[in-house]
Amino acid sequence: MIDAIVIGGGVSGLATAYGLMRNGRRVLLLERQYRTGGNVFSERIGDFLMEHGPSSMNASVPAATTLERELGIDTLRSPLGPEVRYRYLPRAGRLHSIATHPLGFLLSGYLTPGARLRLLAELLVPAKKDASEESVADFCRRRFGREFADAVIDPLLGGLRAARAGEASMQACFPALVAMEQKYGSIIRAIVAKRLAHGTMPAQRLYSWEEGVETLPRALAARLGTVIRVGMPVRRIRAVPGGYRVEAGLAAQTVRARAVIVATQPHVAAELIDHLDPDAAAAAAGIDAPPLAVVFTGYRRRQIAHPLTGLGYLAPERERRALLGALFCSTMFSGRASTGHVALAAYIGGARAPDLARAAPADLVDVTRREFRELLGVTGPPVVSRVRQWARGLPQYRMGHQGRIEALLAGEQRHPGLFLTGNYFSGPSVAACIAQAVETTSRIDRYLSRPGHVCGAEGGPRASSAVIG
Ligand SMILES: Cc1cc2nc3c(=O)[nH]c(=O)nc-3n(C[C@H](O)[C@H](O)[C@H](O)COP(=O)(O)OP(=O)(O)OC[C@H]3O[C@@H](n4cnc5c(N)ncnc54)[C@H](O)[C@@H]3O)c2cc1C
Repeated sequence: MIDAIVIGGGVSGLATAYGLMRNGRRVLLLERQYRTGGNVFSERIGDFLMEHGPSSMNASVPAATTLERELGIDTLRSPLGPEVRYRYLPRAGRLHSIATHPLGFLLSGYLTPGARLRLLAELLVPAKKDASEESVADFCRRRFGREFADAVIDPLLGGLRAARAGEASMQACFPALVAMEQKYGSIIRAIVAKRLAHGTMPAQRLYSWEEGVETLPRALAARLGTVIRVGMPVRRIRAVPGGYRVEAGLAAQTVRARAVIVATQPHVAAELIDHLDPDAAAAAAGIDAPPLAVVFTGYRRRQIAHPLTGLGYLAPERERRALLGALFCSTMFSGRASTGHVALAAYIGGARAPDLARAAPADLVDVTRREFRELLGVTGPPVVSRVRQWARGLPQYRMGHQGRIEALLAGEQRHPGLFLTGNYFSGPSVAACIAQAVETTSRIDRYLSRPGHVCGAEGGPRASSAVIG
């Protein structure tokens, strides 16, 4: 019996397996597909680089930057390009540029003068007294006014989480902002205090690597080596004396371990733990991840009238646009397009328009081209286009999400040695997945170190070749 089996080779599973291996645990990672990385997938198409999933990392999560340094990939970093000066938001068929400094919204004409005044009045809005759950839309309308919430926060949520502000839980999506309201009495006051302490802006904290975000899972997979088995869909987890037995692969091979870590998407976690703990399984099954499509396009620079001096644009739902938004990939990072060309990525679907994300790829390219023509002044066909359709995109932290997470953690308590991790716990970003994996690793380590457990801790990292069969 080995120490731990990690199910799922996305960033969450890879980072957990790596942390356990580094701590001297005997671990095996089973991945359903023939590649690891999960959502993180960077593909070279000629001189273009398409990100099928995440396209940037957030530098403000210490667990992620520590891991980056440990893996030695910090030297391969791509910082945000110097042309990223604005964020763009569409209104009535044209893009408004908003400077990426804190006063950007107050100085731009995107918001009406009344909305700008109401935004400043946030300083005077009393903090909410009770701890009841609020939607993101309700929280932001209460604190910042309806126009700011609908024209700024709503598109942000569509872009960051493919979510709708009226459905998403503020407490689950942005617990730090809820805490700020309670501590400082005002979000603006809290942000000013934090900015003064740290001195950087959110947009400046994004980064990637020369060969894209997949640099990270590739580096983790290289460290893990034979710990990883690909093409191994896990079919069943059974409790056995002293641990768990996992059945995987087409031939239903089995492997036993003291601990089992489910690092899959929530719907898979629900299926795998259903017979162990139906209540926890029901909680996982209640976390929806609507489909999401990414349309990558490359153009000659001269085909585009827009200056593209920003990260991209995000569309408020009330503008009724087909795209959630688009990233100006080659403005964000170097090496994303060949010389004289630009790379753009459109995002379609999510909670706002799940059916549209399932449309035929050619239709998705057409929809994207139409919108780019209108908003960016693009002429002619792209020189490159590629569509990625995720059947399940980002997990939705809807109202009641925290209750579902508590039910999952209660399930873990009922089944010592069973652990769950992934992007539905503490945020969908890659950096949040890493932080969650680090936290999960410490819990597993504590469990395996309990008296009565014979652990493989001595002798440094050990691979687990030939333990399955
Ligand atoms: C289009 C898109 C854009 C995004 N943009 C960003 C961004 O810019 N920045 C950012 O930080 N984040 C972004 N994200 C979010 C981020 O990429 C994900 O939240 C994160 O990568 C999820 O990692 P994970 O390991 O938790 O899950 P996943 O990546 O979903 O990994 C789960 C793994 O489990 C495997 N698996 C499933 N079933 C089984 C089974 N039965 N047996 C074995 N293995 C199984 C799967 O094959 C998969 O490899 C984006 C996501 C998407 C989809």
